[in-house]
Amino acid sequence: MGFRARYTGLIEKYRDRLPVHDDTRIISLGEGNTPLVKLHNLPNLLQKDVDIYVKYEGSNPTGSFKDRGMTMAVTKAVEVGSQAIICASTGNTSAAAAAYAARAGIRAFVLIPEGKIALGKLAQAFMYGATVLQIRGNFDQGMSLVKKVAETAPVTIVNSINPYRLQGQKTASFEVVEALGFAPDYHCLPVGNAGNISAYWMGYCEYYKDGVTNNKPKMLGYQAEGAAPFLQGAPVDYPETVATAIRIGNPQSWNKALAAQQESGGWFDKLSDEKILEAQKMLAQHEGIFCEPASAASVGGAMRDICSGKILEGSRVVCTLTGNGLKDPDTAIAQCHSVKQVAIAAELPAVEKAILDYMK
Ligand SMILES: *Cc1c(COP(=O)(O)O)cnc(C)c1O
Repeated sequence: MGFRARYTGLIEKYRDRLPVHDDTRIISLGEGNTPLVKLHNLPNLLQKDVDIYVKYEGSNPTGSFKDRGMTMAVTKAVEVGSQAIICASTGNTSAAAAAYAARAGIRAFVLIPEGKIALGKLAQAFMYGATVLQIRGNFDQGMSLVKKVAETAPVTIVNSINPYRLQGQKTASFEVVEALGFAPDYHCLPVGNAGNISAYWMGYCEYYKDGVTNNKPKMLGYQAEGAAPFLQGAPVDYPETVATAIRIGNPQSWNKALAAQQESGGWFDKLSDEKILEAQKMLAQHEGIFCEPASAASVGGAMRDICSGKILEGSRVVCTLTGNGLKDPDTAIAQCHSVKQVAIAAELPAVEKAILDYMK
């Protein structure tokens, strides 16, 4: 009986396609290799003949796709002898930075918007031992501070302006192609700082150029209505949305993301918070998949474009679910207020009665 080698993370797996040397010390937590789940119930509800798959990035070690970029960014920081990393974050980048820094034995400084970060992400940053700087400002202000402080302080920036981040993140496209045997017709993503959509496009283009696949998807980027600079065609000063992971008004990868959209023949669109939360709940209740609010923008957008016919019938669609629903318990519970939460006596008749009542 043969045994498969233990999976040891995406750098080892895609070593040939990533900027690492044979003797590079790799900082990994076994990220990547995430499930590509085919949806069954949502397509039935839509009554459209479309294959929808979700790339569930919530199963990464710290619960979001940021781990793909962080394994590369921290590996390269350590390679050049950096003792500290720094990032601005809406939450998930700080969680990933903190974890990989802990793994590497270096320091992490994270700037987060005070009061606007999901509870689970804050818990992670603290627990992994990062130095958490909560700023009275938003992500964009944090990003600008990080860029300035890194000019003088001995810290490596690990936001997605660090080119190694996108290198790591492009491996998600490789996994999609390998799982399907081809690239999808459409790839849908939530867009915040716009690094991820840029990275996926890089990955698809690389596999296409090397003949691993003979097609490329149209890239569809979905933003929250209150934080939609790509729809406005200019930065947004005061971004606001319940989907805190994409509460960003001045995307750092603007040009790359725009190129991805244009070269691929895709589009950007925006969704209301209500539609985003509706998609989050539908995925949970009809498919058993719990993602963050921001992640659900991809599926919410895809469903709308499938219904309107903008996404053609017969298509194969992949939506990236960027982060795990457990990251943001407050938003989840607030959405389920209609669920009856009355306590009953710890006695059999009470339980029997409760079940009968619910079945009515
Ligand atoms: C970071 C993040 C995004 C946005 O990705 P960008 O690369 O900034 O566009 C979306 N969803 C989640 C859960 C994230 O953590």
